[in-house]
Amino acid sequence: MEAVAHLNRVGDELIEVHNPVSREVIGTVPNLRHEAVEQAVRRARTAQAEWAVVPVKERSQIIKRFANLMIAQQQPIIDIIQRETGKAYAVAYGEVMVVVLYADFYSRHAPRWLKPDKRPSVFSILYNVKVYHHPYGVVGNIAPWNYPLLLSGIDMIPALLAGNAVVVKPSEITPFSIMEMARVLGEAGLPDNVFQVVTGNGETGAALVNHVDYIMFTGSTATGRKIAIQAAERLIPCSLELGSNNPMIVLKDANINKAAAGALRGCIENTGQACVSTQRVIVEAPIYDSFLKAIEKWYKKIKIGSESSFDFHMSSLTNQREFDRTLRHTRDALDKGARLLMGSKPIPEKGPLFLEPVIITDARPDMEVMQEETFGPMIAIIKAKDADEAVQIANSTQYGLAASVWSKNKQNAETVATRLEFGTVNINTLFMEFGAPTADMAGWKNSGIGARNGKQGLMKYTQPQSIIRDNFPYPSLTAYTSLLKRLFELSRKIKRLAP
Ligand code: NAD
Repeated sequence: MEAVAHLNRVGDELIEVHNPVSREVIGTVPNLRHEAVEQAVRRARTAQAEWAVVPVKERSQIIKRFANLMIAQQQPIIDIIQRETGKAYAVAYGEVMVVVLYADFYSRHAPRWLKPDKRPSVFSILYNVKVYHHPYGVVGNIAPWNYPLLLSGIDMIPALLAGNAVVVKPSEITPFSIMEMARVLGEAGLPDNVFQVVTGNGETGAALVNHVDYIMFTGSTATGRKIAIQAAERLIPCSLELGSNNPMIVLKDANINKAAAGALRGCIENTGQACVSTQRVIVEAPIYDSFLKAIEKWYKKIKIGSESSFDFHMSSLTNQREFDRTLRHTRDALDKGARLLMGSKPIPEKGPLFLEPVIITDARPDMEVMQEETFGPMIAIIKAKDADEAVQIANSTQYGLAASVWSKNKQNAETVATRLEFGTVNINTLFMEFGAPTADMAGWKNSGIGARNGKQGLMKYTQPQSIIRDNFPYPSLTAYTSLLKRLFELSRKIKRLAP
């Protein structure tokens, strides 16, 4: 199976991929130009014609084999993820497990969901309605670096099951994890060229959008906007999972200890580089001081390291850009009157991009951390006089990806959750949008268009075709109009739509 289109083609510029912890070059990939991307899509198109006629049950068998192989080969895959991202071992393991979970979920449901459905018709004696679900053709996937396996895997498995071929453009910072997925898919029996990887930078991504039939993008809001414009010009559908600035609301009846541990996890999971990371922690006034004490207690228990061990909660950042931005947001907040509760010191003895998680208090709306996406291990804690004010602060953002509410009163927490302008709200937990593949995950406002997960996370890669069969052929034009006339008279008599 050809995983990387034209790898090592003479004349291609090469991109060096670095290990963020050791700074060593772990490999190079070609920066593929327009022509190579076009050729990859052409090969995908040819392969897709045959893949689309493979019965869905057989496609599902291949994906189930893929899931088993991922588990069997998890160690080398975890190592690759860790090497190119610098993330904690447990988080790299989590990436593999989430992809396996989604592969299992979608391979179990695809055969039923993709069956043509019979729909009731208004005049069922006269005609039957059936809706078929055809694949789009070639789905392009452009992915970020923060979860390089997971954020292609969970979206491209349903695209494949729906009968599409897939061409992935991974981040130039982390191209190797998804190449492993391509290798394992091949081993599981996926035919050649049904799943390909094209490596390169943003221009390679833009070239991909020019040729595919559907584009699934995960990345920043700025890039998402460019892709939406390009997709609109070509009139192809796009699904965009974008940036965030996620709030956590701690109500006065919350389990303070649990909520404080949750806030820290929201801050440090994947070293703060998750689209669903917590960035603003809004605490009701009566428990504010106790909450800060609980945060300080948990903070001392954080273990930071990049070793191959489940002992570490947090590791290195992946890029200098996020490292610098976290420190910039910290400085900006302190300049504008925030108080540094914990952290913000670099830890060079562990690696160049290690940073103590930053906790600031007394945050105000004009601070960058309150408005922009930090994408690093930093949270701002804000005091709210009551739940109404907490909701108002939480919603004061251009983003709408993921929020959480913490309270012992389930009903009250749910009521607050429904007032939040966010596509996912966790109650007394975090990140479960990636643990519950049944739950639609949609970015509201500037966090995206469309959604992943659930039935629609697969059906979005299909286009409906309605087949409407006439059971009672009209012998002539007059028969049709006389039927309409009779209906018209009947509906006038009974004063509603007849029959
Ligand atoms: P990015 O937008 O810089 O890059 C994402 C991908 O787009 C990369 O593969 C890049 O090469 C490519 N790209 C860049 N310019 C392009 C262009 N003009 N046309 C086509 N492709 C182009 O984002 P990033 O720094 O890799 O990732 C971090 C961002 O991703 C954060 O904003 C984060 O919130 C977001 N993200 C969102 C989700 C979600 O589910 N909503 C998940 C993870 C990350």
